[in-house]
Amino acid sequence: MTAETSPVKRGTADKPEKIRCDACPVMCYIAEGRAGACDRYANENGELVRLDPLTILENSDTPVVPFLEREWDGDIVSGDEAFITAVGSGTTYPDYKPAPFIVASKTADADMITVVTEGIFSYCGAKVKIDTDRHLGSECAWVRSEGEIIGHVTTSEYGSQMLSLGGVNHLTGGSKKEGRATCSALLALCNGESVQLSIDNGAELEIAAGQAPIVNGQTEERMRVGCGSATVGMFAAQWQGLVDEVVVVDDHITGVMSEHQAGKVIGWKPTGIKIKGRRSTPGRYFQVAEPGTGWGGTDLTDPLAILDKWKPEAWPGLSILMVSTTGENAAYYELNDDLVPVQKDMPERLRPSVQRIEENCEPSLASVLFMAGAGGSLRSGVTENPVSLTRSVQSRLTRVTCGGAPVMMWPGGGITFMSDVTQMPKNAFGYVPTPALVAPIEFTMSRADYQALGGHMDYVMPLEDALKGVTGRQSDHRLSGRRSESRKKGAPWPVGKEPAK
Ligand code: SF4
Repeated sequence: MTAETSPVKRGTADKPEKIRCDACPVMCYIAEGRAGACDRYANENGELVRLDPLTILENSDTPVVPFLEREWDGDIVSGDEAFITAVGSGTTYPDYKPAPFIVASKTADADMITVVTEGIFSYCGAKVKIDTDRHLGSECAWVRSEGEIIGHVTTSEYGSQMLSLGGVNHLTGGSKKEGRATCSALLALCNGESVQLSIDNGAELEIAAGQAPIVNGQTEERMRVGCGSATVGMFAAQWQGLVDEVVVVDDHITGVMSEHQAGKVIGWKPTGIKIKGRRSTPGRYFQVAEPGTGWGGTDLTDPLAILDKWKPEAWPGLSILMVSTTGENAAYYELNDDLVPVQKDMPERLRPSVQRIEENCEPSLASVLFMAGAGGSLRSGVTENPVSLTRSVQSRLTRVTCGGAPVMMWPGGGITFMSDVTQMPKNAFGYVPTPALVAPIEFTMSRADYQALGGHMDYVMPLEDALKGVTGRQSDHRLSGRRSESRKKGAPWPVGKEPAK
């Protein structure tokens, strides 16, 4: 640590000195033995220490002995074996200082550089996908945590409801309480913890990344097999000859077998059924009921509510199967002499088809993608000419990873990316009380490209030093420790062109 980068100390002869952490704009004065406001840095014997261990990724699905525990004589380690993630690496704020680790490694005989830093993101959030047909709330309805608005319901996707959470407006644009609640919900979600959310005029949720969502206290088990129309198409041939009519109830597109093209091409006989709802194309109906948590994401508890009076071509004894898109709800009816459906026990011959729908449903999960923009000052920790990093990322000369996890980079300006939090190491995220999220980010490129974009070449250190826990001379903190984690199964290795194992 150089005199010019060492933390500022404040104290008297009687009182132990406090040190000043300058890793974020809060600039805490931290007393001996205490941690700063974010619990990420502490004062240990007058030294600023990053409390979470630096996380090293190992290129093995199942390391028998973790890299850090093996006998290691200091030999050269290739970038194909180990990767320094930014988790626990620290932040150099303000960003004109080079990033905490600028690591040189050899990968498949190529000289590579990885710039490693924990970024402070005021512009960040989470896109959450909840696999359920159930209506969670209207589009644009507020999503709340601890009673505060932290995001909104956005457009539904195929078999999933979507939430857009966080973002700069909720972090900084509302009250202090709103900012804090947003930051704490994002932090928990990104670290894989369970979070309770409520949607205005909608559902109560409990979600954790990679786990089944809980909607109004009920654990979701299955994601629907398809919309009502798709379900009719998928199983038309299997139902033929077993039942006279099939209605697949769905909030978006309810399918009616005898009218649907899938039924027609295999010669399904007209039944005289009439559906209350907006007919889109033959056998496909929109808006048969209100959205809800009943049959197929509607508010229906009795599916007969969507049937109108039958046309004269219907006949007594006509059999009808009504089923939801997950197979969770199913009922069997026969028309009586007055052409009124009467519920009967589900015949054995139809049970396998309902089970087949259930079988074809995937498990319902909540997925969390962290989304952030690294287009700001963070780039100065990588290069003296920030826009050259943006250009290098956009032209794919520089690979961005988030705790070693792959990112999906948005086209257009800036460095705006999304990354699956379940692909990242444990507790990859932190926060600062500004409020903002702290997330790991690594930029990897060839040595020549790093030099060309005006990289901080004087601060490059060998991978072996970083593995030993030696911090760069630009860092004014010490590491508290290191830990190693295996690469995630199936995830691409963050350096090099090797395909996923
Ligand atoms: S909040 Fe954390 S990072 Fe920010 S100055 Fe305080 S201890 Fe340092």
